[in-house]
Amino acid sequence: MTRGAGDLMDYRVTIGLETHVQLKTQTKIWCGCRNRFGQPPNTDVCPVCLGYPGTLPVLNRESVRLTVMAGLMLGCRINERSTFDRKSYFYPDMPKNYQISQYDEPLCLGGRLEIEVNGRKKSIGITRIHLEEDVGKSIHYEQSSGVDFNRAGTPLMEIVSEPEIESADEAFAYLTALKQVLLYGGISDCNLEEGNIRSDINCSVRPVEREELGTKIEIKNMNTFRGVHRSLVYEISRQINVLNDGGSISQETRRWNDETGVTEAMRTKEYAHDYRYFPEPDLMPVVLTREQIEGWRATIPELPGDRRARFVREYGLSEYDAGVLSADRNVADYYEEAARASGHFKAVSNWIMTDMLHAMSEGAIPIQEVKITPGALAGLIDLVDRQVINRPSAKRVFTILFEKGGNPADIVEQEGLSQVRDTESLETYIDEAITAHPQSVSDYRSGKKAALKFLVGQVMRLSKGKADPQMALEMLRERLDTG
Ligand SMILES: [Zn+2]
Repeated sequence: MTRGAGDLMDYRVTIGLETHVQLKTQTKIWCGCRNRFGQPPNTDVCPVCLGYPGTLPVLNRESVRLTVMAGLMLGCRINERSTFDRKSYFYPDMPKNYQISQYDEPLCLGGRLEIEVNGRKKSIGITRIHLEEDVGKSIHYEQSSGVDFNRAGTPLMEIVSEPEIESADEAFAYLTALKQVLLYGGISDCNLEEGNIRSDINCSVRPVEREELGTKIEIKNMNTFRGVHRSLVYEISRQINVLNDGGSISQETRRWNDETGVTEAMRTKEYAHDYRYFPEPDLMPVVLTREQIEGWRATIPELPGDRRARFVREYGLSEYDAGVLSADRNVADYYEEAARASGHFKAVSNWIMTDMLHAMSEGAIPIQEVKITPGALAGLIDLVDRQVINRPSAKRVFTILFEKGGNPADIVEQEGLSQVRDTESLETYIDEAITAHPQSVSDYRSGKKAALKFLVGQVMRLSKGKADPQMALEMLRERLDTG
């Protein structure tokens, strides 16, 4: 429930999302061209994906498997028979003037996705998932435009949600949860910068006491989750303001302007498309056997939500820590490997949650590429546990391991970081510190306990950070209390 700007009445918000996800296949959906990003324009193309007359599509088997896997992970029913249809419209980046999609017999129907907003769990219905082809990309220059067809024919899955999302926060949570599931299943790289996930938003508001839904506004082609959130915050308050002022919402498509932070009218209902769907004559229906579907079902990995619960149960982590560590499957795998090697579950979690994720985000390095292995992290934690090195030294060893890899014990040796724990050396540092700071000694003896901390700091400095701070503290206290 959202309170209107003028506070005249309360409104209910209804949001549905249509999310397009590029599938992680080796080749395109109808031809053998490579499915990859970032190549020079029009280099991954052939007569099929360029839409030449007379060419015939051949369905990529893996694109069907990935779509069905997504459906299974989201609890959908899988249609044993599904068909392709032509969706006719003209667009410069679609040379056939129709897109091959699925209309009334999609691969997956009905499903659910669990989301959590401010600690409250909710399940959003999935209406359907169908498979289609992506189109090319128009590039506009100052005086002219060009079309890059490398993207044309990329397998694209459209996931349609039920209109059960009720706020910008829920929409954001839905997309985040969806991305986690797709990453876990290896279905898509989900790289937003490369346009792997794009959403169309349907949004309407209505006074709480009214049953009938308000007029639907569509916001097209959102390619960031943050953009979805911001555009909804704007659009919901815009619609409420119009209604509060006694106006009415007309059905239209709007575009989000990320720079100005507003949605702008794009086209009204009069220009709504008639896509003239009809069965694609060049493709046979897709017929899946029960064995095939069950075989794929058996390969579903543990889902992010289940893994989070297990991390709490098995490793005694907090809900929050388990949520962070399980969000990315690769991070979760890394954690489990290091936790099992180390046995110090909480310490491993702390190192990953702070130093590791921080260093990864600074260098924009995915965990698969970090140089410190799970075994090395476990080794480092063991050195701290056995008091071979103190915490500041451990951080230095971590930085070196993160950048160069290697064995933590070797690095401690090379860098001379072993903690000074022999009493003789510590006594020498303590003597020096006491001689150099008589004022602190008398301060401590006259009751200023903070002076002790200062003297420990001096011992650490004299030892170049290698003294065991706890031992130094105890020895200093003993000396000052008795001496
Ligand atoms: Zn091709």
